[in-house]
Amino acid sequence: MRTLCGMADSFIYLVSRMGVTGTTGSLSPDLPALIRRVKGLSGNVPVAVGFGISTRQQYLAVTSVADGAVIGSQVITILNDAPAGKGAQAVEELCTKITQRKVEMGASALEYLISSAETVDSVTTASIAEDDATVTDEPGRFGVFGGQYAPEALRTCLAELEAGFQAARDNPTFWEEFRSYYPYMGRPSSLHFAERLTAHAGGANIWLKREDLNHTGSHKINNALGQILIARRLGKTEIIAETGAGQHGVATATVCAKFGLKCTIYMGAEDVRRQALNVFRIRLLGATVVPVESGSRTLRDAVNEAFRAWITRLDTTHYIIGSAIGPHPFPTMVRTFQGVIGNETKAQMADLGKKVDAVVACVGGGSNAVGMLCPFSQDSSVQLFGVEAAGDGLDSGPGRHSATLSGGSIGVLHGVRTYILQDQHGQIESTHSISAGLDYPGVGPELAYWKECNRAKFLSATDAQALQGFRLLSELEGIIPALETSHAVWGALEIAKKLGPGSNLVLCLSGRGDKDVQTVAEVLPKLGEEIGWDLRF
Ligand SMILES: *Cc1c(COP(=O)(O)O)cnc(C)c1O
Repeated sequence: MRTLCGMADSFIYLVSRMGVTGTTGSLSPDLPALIRRVKGLSGNVPVAVGFGISTRQQYLAVTSVADGAVIGSQVITILNDAPAGKGAQAVEELCTKITQRKVEMGASALEYLISSAETVDSVTTASIAEDDATVTDEPGRFGVFGGQYAPEALRTCLAELEAGFQAARDNPTFWEEFRSYYPYMGRPSSLHFAERLTAHAGGANIWLKREDLNHTGSHKINNALGQILIARRLGKTEIIAETGAGQHGVATATVCAKFGLKCTIYMGAEDVRRQALNVFRIRLLGATVVPVESGSRTLRDAVNEAFRAWITRLDTTHYIIGSAIGPHPFPTMVRTFQGVIGNETKAQMADLGKKVDAVVACVGGGSNAVGMLCPFSQDSSVQLFGVEAAGDGLDSGPGRHSATLSGGSIGVLHGVRTYILQDQHGQIESTHSISAGLDYPGVGPELAYWKECNRAKFLSATDAQALQGFRLLSELEGIIPALETSHAVWGALEIAKKLGPGSNLVLCLSGRGDKDVQTVAEVLPKLGEEIGWDLRF
C-alpha cells in the first residue's frame, strides 16, 4: 500500500470489496478509516472508491467519505442490455439517475460528468505546475515526464533491471565487454561531409553520422546489444521484443542468435503483412514471430502484447524494448546505449577540428534522437532538433500523422508519462506515416522534457517531404536512406538554410533504405507527382 500510494500522482482507485454491502447500500464501517490511511500514505491524493456500486444510495454513501465513486460493471451491464445504438443514451440516463445532475442539451456525457470539476486542460496544467519542482530529481523522471506507471506485478522485475543496469553502467568491465562487440556491430560508425547536399541546401555544412552502416542496417543494434548483455548478467535465458517495421526485431533476433538465447518477437498482424521481408529475416535468424491480432494490429498493440507476455515469465525472460519509451529504467537505459551515436560524433568532429552548431535526428519513439542529442544537451552552443512524421500533414486530422510532440498532449502510455496522441477522452489515436518505424503514438520522456523547457526544437515532415529527403540523399550523396531517416534529411535541409554558411550541422543517418524500396515504388505514382519525381520508363 505504501509503494502504490507513493507512485500515485493523479488519483487512487480504492477497490473496496467491503466498501458497500450489495443491495442494502450501507457502508462498511471500516471504509472511512481505510480512506484516511490511504490519504495519509499518499500525501492526500484524491481517493475514488469502487466495487459493486450501482445505485444512488450507494453513490451517496461512498461520496460522503471519498472524493469519488467508480462505477464499472453496472455500466457494462447497461451497455449489454441496451438495444443496438442506444448504449450511450442508456449510460447517460444511468449517470443522471445516480448523480441527479441533468445533462444539458448538446453537452456530451463526458463534459457533463466533469462539468462540476475543472476542465481536463486546466487539471493537466495545474498538476504540471505543482509537480515540476518536486519530481525532477527522482530517478527516471525528466521534469514531469517519465516515471514508472506499471502494474504491481512488474515492479519487482523493473527494480531488478534498474539495479542490474546501474551496476553495469558503473562498471568499466561492462563497457569493455560492450566495446569488444564493436567489430561485430561495425562501430565506430563513420562520419563524413555531405558535399553535394550542402551545396544544394546553400547553408550550413551538413555532416552525416552513418548509423546506416551498422550491422543489420540501423542504430537499433546499439541498444539490442547493450540490453542483451544486461539480460545475461541478470541470468535471463529468454528474450522477447516488439517490433514495428521489423528493424528492432531483426536487431534483437541477431544478438539472440549471437549469444544463443531463445527469442520471441511480437509484431502487429498488419505489420507482419507489410514487412514480410523483415519477418522472414527474423525467422532466418532462428527467432519466432508472434503476429498480434488485437487493436489496430500495429506497433502499439505489439508493445501491449510484449508487456503482457513478459509478466507471465519474468523469472527467465528479459524484454528488450526497442525505443526510448516504456517505464523507468527503459528510457534511461536505451538512451545510455544509443548515446554512443552522439559521443562518437562529438569526438569525430573534435578530431576534424570542427565545432558542432546543430544536431538533427528523426523521431519515432525517440531512440536515435535521444542518442544523438543527449551528449550535446549540456552544451548550450549546440542547437538540438528532432523531426517527426507529419504523414498527410498535421492538419489532416487525427489518425493521419504520427507527430506526437508537435500534435499531441500529455498523458500516460506504455508505463511512461510523456506526450501522446490521444483524443479528448484520453483514448489513443491511430497514427499514420509512410515510414513504419515512426508510426507510434508516444515518444521518449526526455524528448518531451526538452520540448517543454525549449532545449530542443521539433519539426515535422510530411510523407511527401520525407520522399523528397529520400530522393535528395540518394541522388546527391549516393546513399539510399531509410524512410524514417528521410524525414530528418528534409528537416536538416531546412535547418541548414537557416543556420547559414560556415556553421556545422550533423545529421543522424539512422538507417539504410533497402527495406523501403518496395514502399517507395508503391507510393511514387501518388506522391511522386506532388514533388515532381517520375521514375516510369
Ligand atoms: C526504428 C527506426 C527509427 C525510429 O525509432 P527511434 O526510436 O525514434 O529512433 C528511425 N530510423 C530507423 C532507421 C529505424 O529503424
